[in-house]
Amino acid sequence: MHPRNRHQDRYEFTRLTRELPALKPFVVRTPDGQPSIDFGDPTAVRMLNRALMQSQYGIAGWQFPAGYLCPPIPGRADYLHGLADLLAQDNGGAIPRGGAICALDIGTGASCIYPLLGHVDYGWRFVGTEIDSAALASAAAIIAANSGLRAAVELRLQPDPTLILKGVVQPGERFDLTLCNPPFHASAAEAAQGSARKWQNLGRSGGPRSRPARNFGGHAHELWCRGGELGFVGQMIKESAELASSVYWFSSLIANGAHLAPLKQQLQKAGAQQVQSVAMAQGQKQSRFLAWTFLDAGQRAAWRQQRWTGAGEQT
Ligand code: SAH
Repeated sequence: MHPRNRHQDRYEFTRLTRELPALKPFVVRTPDGQPSIDFGDPTAVRMLNRALMQSQYGIAGWQFPAGYLCPPIPGRADYLHGLADLLAQDNGGAIPRGGAICALDIGTGASCIYPLLGHVDYGWRFVGTEIDSAALASAAAIIAANSGLRAAVELRLQPDPTLILKGVVQPGERFDLTLCNPPFHASAAEAAQGSARKWQNLGRSGGPRSRPARNFGGHAHELWCRGGELGFVGQMIKESAELASSVYWFSSLIANGAHLAPLKQQLQKAGAQQVQSVAMAQGQKQSRFLAWTFLDAGQRAAWRQQRWTGAGEQT
């Protein structure tokens, strides 16, 4: 986990249940007497995460309709910390903070997780996009429930599901970052298989109350898209080349490490000036994000001078 991640320690259940009493009925004892929850129970997992958003980030009413994925917060936070490091890397080690920095979150989801964490940790502004209007409505309700977020997060519907950046980035608009947790399966059947495997790995036998589709199934859009992760990020790279001077760093999570090599090759062909993959690990889980820019060193210096001056804070 990234050293700036707020989730280094064990969950403090006393504090969490004080913040969100609705979590209390879900707290169980582990064999060694520690408080915990049943991580196989999606309602319990949602409640724990809602309590974490409230106590660690001051976000009230973090709720979304049943059927949407509940993002594991520590992992999502790590991606943002990695992006902050990427900005700092060019900026003499200082992370640019505050509303001068604007990030585009592609597929922000019903939970609006990245804009919430990124705004609370770094004060950045966000534009979140979605093809799923119900997810967008849910994200809008979360923002509406938190007055501090209203000016910081804007939501935009992507009307064409085959497009990613086009149609949501407006002419003349600039983003310091783009980020994305892409749908990674190539078909509904593959997504269902993935859920079943995850279920088996947790040692669950199934049964009427615990069918995989019910416990791990996200909304179809969250799980799969034509072409899977490789197709989605490939399309993003193609569109990013046409918006080369509108964005400082483009990025995407890459769930399958084997996809890095072909995507890097595509980026090289597309004329990316710099490409970086950043490894992340939470417990056993390994993941990574890929970041690229079409701006050369001089263009980046001019961008920083124009947009980041005064936004730095030494870490
Ligand atoms: N960011 C959230 C949700 C990720 S799931 C999280 O990390 O938990 C991927 C999301 O991308 C889904 O909500 C899906 O509806 C959305 N999506 C899929 N294709 C998209 C596109 N072309 N443009 C914008 N969003 C898209």
